[in-house]
Amino acid sequence: MTEVRKMDERMKNIVDDYENKQIGLDDTFRFHCTICGKCCINREDILLNALDVYNLAKELKIGTEEVFVNYCEAYFGQYSRMVIVRLKPRGSIKRCPLLKDRKCSVHNAKPTVCALYPLGRGMGASAGEKVDFTKMEVRYFLQEIECGDDSEKHTVREWLHDFNIDEQDTFYPLWTQTITDIGSMVKQIEPHVREHVMELVFKAIMFCIYLNYTTEEPFMPQFEKT
Ligand code: SF4
Ligand code: SF4
Repeated sequence: MTEVRKMDERMKNIVDDYENKQIGLDDTFRFHCTICGKCCINREDILLNALDVYNLAKELKIGTEEVFVNYCEAYFGQYSRMVIVRLKPRGSIKRCPLLKDRKCSVHNAKPTVCALYPLGRGMGASAGEKVDFTKMEVRYFLQEIECGDDSEKHTVREWLHDFNIDEQDTFYPLWTQTITDIGSMVKQIEPHVREHVMELVFKAIMFCIYLNYTTEEPFMPQFEKT
């Protein structure tokens, strides 16, 4: 899957480069979304975490497995060997499957990467560095802005608040730790087991960390049990 490899490479570059683009919670940036919808086509990099899948299931009133089957695909990251889930683009224009009538059909439960744009976030560890993410601060960075206009000024804090993203997010560090640990485990066992065993490992990880949640109960206590 060349496209997927390119995307994993792009993700790696973003993570490697983000030190230079960091922005503090009270720093300002100029951006106004003109609702042109261009960011919802020609996209192959709308990655979801487990909370995104849960929020989509709740919003669409379906189960997490249905969200995955209807809208997503998953693969092992080329470098990270983490199990990565993304929204599966449709058609020749690689349209997001959640784009309906040129509008986001899940506006209130947008995946974090969509809600954050033009911001991104990371944990400030270099690739391969062994750290305890749960003891680290979430850091924000400003992506290259190639759309909208600059008619509005925002602080990072206001932007997060407007999109219901908790600046002291306890999920994100725990999530980063979980997928990093699982990626390390996969790297260790992969050279020693056959392909069909890896397929079973892949399915088990998928189910346990991305899908094993009911929307009838709050997310965090369920996630902390995984
Ligand atoms: S989830 Fe919504 S905002 Fe994000 S790419 Fe899809 S349609 Fe666009
Ligand atoms: S974020 Fe940018 S590309 Fe997406 S709808 Fe807004 S202006 Fe258009």
